[in-house]
Amino acid sequence: MSFVEGLRCRECARAYPAEALHVCDFCFGPLEAVYDYERIAASVTRESIAAGPHTIWRYAALLPADGRAPVDLGAGFTPLVRADRLAAELGLGELWIKNDTVNPTGSFKDRVVSVALTKAQELGFKVAACASTGNLANAVGAHAAHAGMKSFVFIPHDLEAGKVVMTAIYGGNVIAVNGNYDDVNRLCAELASEQPTWAFVNVNVRPYYAEGSKTLAFEVAEQLGWQTPDHVIVPIASGSQLTKVHKGFQELHKVGLLDDEPHVRISGAQAIGCSPVATAFKEGTDVVRPVKPDTIAKSLAIGNPADGPYAVEAARQTGGVIEAVSDGEVVEGIKLLARTEGIFAETAGGVTIATLVRLANAGIVHRDERVVAMITGHGLKTIEAVAPTSKPTATIAPTLDAFAEVLFQIEGN
Ligand SMILES: *Cc1c(COP(=O)(O)O)cnc(C)c1O
Ligand SMILES: [Zn+2]
Repeated sequence: MSFVEGLRCRECARAYPAEALHVCDFCFGPLEAVYDYERIAASVTRESIAAGPHTIWRYAALLPADGRAPVDLGAGFTPLVRADRLAAELGLGELWIKNDTVNPTGSFKDRVVSVALTKAQELGFKVAACASTGNLANAVGAHAAHAGMKSFVFIPHDLEAGKVVMTAIYGGNVIAVNGNYDDVNRLCAELASEQPTWAFVNVNVRPYYAEGSKTLAFEVAEQLGWQTPDHVIVPIASGSQLTKVHKGFQELHKVGLLDDEPHVRISGAQAIGCSPVATAFKEGTDVVRPVKPDTIAKSLAIGNPADGPYAVEAARQTGGVIEAVSDGEVVEGIKLLARTEGIFAETAGGVTIATLVRLANAGIVHRDERVVAMITGHGLKTIEAVAPTSKPTATIAPTLDAFAEVLFQIEGN
């Protein structure tokens, strides 16, 4: 069962029923799910969660959909990997990688889509739709196929080949739009009112979708023995994940699952080629001015981020920062993580690691902090970014002599 009481406007606090609504009629503010935390506190314990499934649905009490019949491909409960070799390289102490590359379609978007489509089915929707920068397309395609829902996925025309294939393969409708993500998103906002029987996961059911990101915080805390980290580094596209990671830690405390009140610094990571939230943070404002994206980190390329102002607020309020890194640093970040920890991340993961590198060098992330970096997508999705510089060490004839020569070059003697 779900403990959601309804929706509430983030700006004017007006209340709405838990239906397919996403903006306030009065002030156009975004709507957010509201829970009865007392009842949740009375019904969940660390033990009841531990006895749950090894997916995001172990936290069903804190999600806005009924966990008894979830649209579930196994999203979540991903490894939290201790990263001592990377930490040593960066001069840090306790560093962990939340490895969300291993989700069913290779990104953290499986979390949000599992929640969104579960709620969509509860609300009676038969068609799943979305505007996507790529990973959401993959997750909606797969989860809609699994649930037997029809799907319409809208993407910018210039996505990475892997992300297009990994959407089309599930048999839904994939519509490539001549424009960037912000054009695609505007089209979907218009379509959502034309097609009220379609569940656009990040438009008309966005308040439910967004809640799925809280499970990253829930898992990190549970995996640390119901403790919170001191600092987390979160990549920013719309800013939703960052705000919900913040909310997730607070909620665990509200329902009595943590010993201590969490003091988690939340820092954000963007690519310089699409860094409207980092710019607002640095300018000391919460007015996020839209930009035209130009970066290899396409999954984060949202020029007009809906939750940007709330991300700035969460970073400021918790003592975090929001930093932006160049595409060159993104490629180096992907390689650094792969070389030190054996984890291959997509460009968004490169953004997170490159930001971690910058913050470590600047002393903003420090040695005595317990740090978690969110690695949100798999490297095979954006192979274009590293293919030119990831080649065989050598190509040889199939003879011992040929190999001996190469080995001599590699190792010397
Ligand atoms: C979508 C996405 C994010 C963050 O998205 P938000 O819109 O900020 O919640 C992070 N990493 C990857 C790989 C993504 O696809
Ligand atoms: Zn309002």
